[in-house]
Amino acid sequence: MSMTRKIMLLTIALMFLTGCSANKNIWESDNQVRIFLNLKLDSLNGETENNFFNQKDLKLDDAFASQIKKLKKAMIDYFSEEYAVDITDKLDQQQLRSFESNYGTYGYVNPDEPQYLYLNVDLFDADADLFNNTYVHESLHQIGFRAHNCYSIDEGITDALTDLVLIKAGIGSFPTPIYADARTLGYQILEADKDIVNFYLDSDNPDITERISETLKDVNMPFLKRNDTGEMLEVLLDNLTYETISNIDPYYMALQAQEIVRAYCQTFQPTTEEISSIRKMYLVEDYENVTIKQDGDMFIIQ
Ligand SMILES: [Zn+2]
Repeated sequence: MSMTRKIMLLTIALMFLTGCSANKNIWESDNQVRIFLNLKLDSLNGETENNFFNQKDLKLDDAFASQIKKLKKAMIDYFSEEYAVDITDKLDQQQLRSFESNYGTYGYVNPDEPQYLYLNVDLFDADADLFNNTYVHESLHQIGFRAHNCYSIDEGITDALTDLVLIKAGIGSFPTPIYADARTLGYQILEADKDIVNFYLDSDNPDITERISETLKDVNMPFLKRNDTGEMLEVLLDNLTYETISNIDPYYMALQAQEIVRAYCQTFQPTTEEISSIRKMYLVEDYENVTIKQDGDMFIIQ
């Protein structure tokens, strides 16, 4: 039995969260959406504080140097074959540094010093799969898959590409469950919007949410009574990724995100094969048969 038959008392959950009027549709009110954003920021600020320390230049031993060479080649081959773009120069500028962390962060790139890729010292004692996925994921951030305003859309697209690079090279991919939902949507966006990769690679600090909002500005999305589509998608993905609002059903969030991605796909008019590829990645298998009805303060999913 699929998850698609479900009734949710969404407004009750929202009242608990915001302590404000239960009479408004959440998608009609900017203020209530802002509350999501604020929650996200509070949560992220707490998490990143003192998370990275003892940074220093990294000297690789022969085994890791040769593994990194192999992973770089996998990335170069993938982008050359799939997108006819050469990322060799971008990867050549990479300088590795190490850091330590108390919170299980395995790698990061600081946008203020984008030539450095930081890898957690623990990663070198971890299993090869964790190393491979982390290194490729962070390298992709470094060569351009990072936007200034949308953490979760970036993470989803970056982690989907990490998966694709490692699978195509026959290395095998073991992606993190943290980005599972964001990655699934990242796959769909990559399939629907073939230019988004070059958009990331060509732009300095690209504004992905603006691109999505601009793309979908004329699309009528019945459940998203809001114009700023990219920001809405970002908020939904953040909540799916961090589960900062555990009393809102993640299924509802996923379904809303699906609505955006579906509109995105319709806008780019993918081929039949691409549509089946996109459908394969749906969180909800029979998505097209699901309807959402608003009944007073409740959203009912049938
Ligand atoms: Zn990342």
